Amino acid sequence: MLQIENPYAPIEEIKLPTFANKGISFFLKREDLSHPFISGNKWRKLKFHLIAASEQKKDTLVTYGGAYSNHLLATAAAGAKYGFNTFGIVRGELVKNPLLDLCELFGMKLNFVSREVYKNKDQLFSSYFGSNQNVLNIPEGGGGYIGELGMEAVIEDLLVGPWNLKMELGKENQHPVLHLITSVGTGSSLRGLLNGIQRQQLPIKAHGMVVLKGAEEMANEYKHFDSNLFALHHQFHGGGYGKINHETKDYIKEFASQTGILLDPIYEAKMMIGITTLINENYFKPGAQICALHNGGLVGLLSGKV
Ligand SMILES: *Cc1c(COP(=O)(O)O)cnc(C)c1O
Repeated sequence: MLQIENPYAPIEEIKLPTFANKGISFFLKREDLSHPFISGNKWRKLKFHLIAASEQKKDTLVTYGGAYSNHLLATAAAGAKYGFNTFGIVRGELVKNPLLDLCELFGMKLNFVSREVYKNKDQLFSSYFGSNQNVLNIPEGGGGYIGELGMEAVIEDLLVGPWNLKMELGKENQHPVLHLITSVGTGSSLRGLLNGIQRQQLPIKAHGMVVLKGAEEMANEYKHFDSNLFALHHQFHGGGYGKINHETKDYIKEFASQTGILLDPIYEAKMMIGITTLINENYFKPGAQICALHNGGLVGLLSGKV
């Protein structure tokens, strides 16, 4: 079987005066350090797809994404690393950008299709590959059951890291003082985390910072979770998916200069603006411990818009 090492993704305490003044301890789980291009949740979500591809003796990975999809790049790099051909179906007209250039360097074949055609992935797959048995079809974003399963492993890391003791303390408390936060695009990462929290009955509340505008109906995809276990925050999309406003740019600059850590403009900067806003509004009680996932995606900084 394909051997895939666990990623290097330490939990670091980030000491910012504005958080400390509110009595909040803040940690970043550096999933962004797992690999420069197979970073964060994309690494987690791909893991079992890669193992499945190897077990099923597939030689090619096919997947889907927009022109700035971190998942396309992660698949291209992972395919190269673990010995698969990769084929990326890109939404929209033919473009060139640094992310797609990197995909091609890793050997990914790119095919651009109109937004209309892109909508029907099953039809796309069969038009390109028919009944070709050598090809593994990976959903957009790497999600689905297999992706969520990989994401659940993040919870295992919390059990052995500096959070373990805090977890024990949390259990004595009626109300969890531990908050685990991730940005939400498709939401499969948040669902994976929630599966782990629920399965292990941990005293953690999960928060999703939704980067899509007008995505309130996504709550339907979380109906099967206890509503006390999680919160979806919809007010931090910063103008909409992929939109980069001045507040976002300024925040990235300030955070980088204060911590030495870069945030991507599409997901993690918006998540951090959300966390900062909620802390300032006293949403979290003093004494709360927050751990946010930094899921990487730093190639997003090369769009020329930041
Ligand atoms: C893909 C991505 C997300 C969103 O993950 P979902 O599982 O789709 O919700 C968040 N942050 C980064 C950096 C990403 O690349």
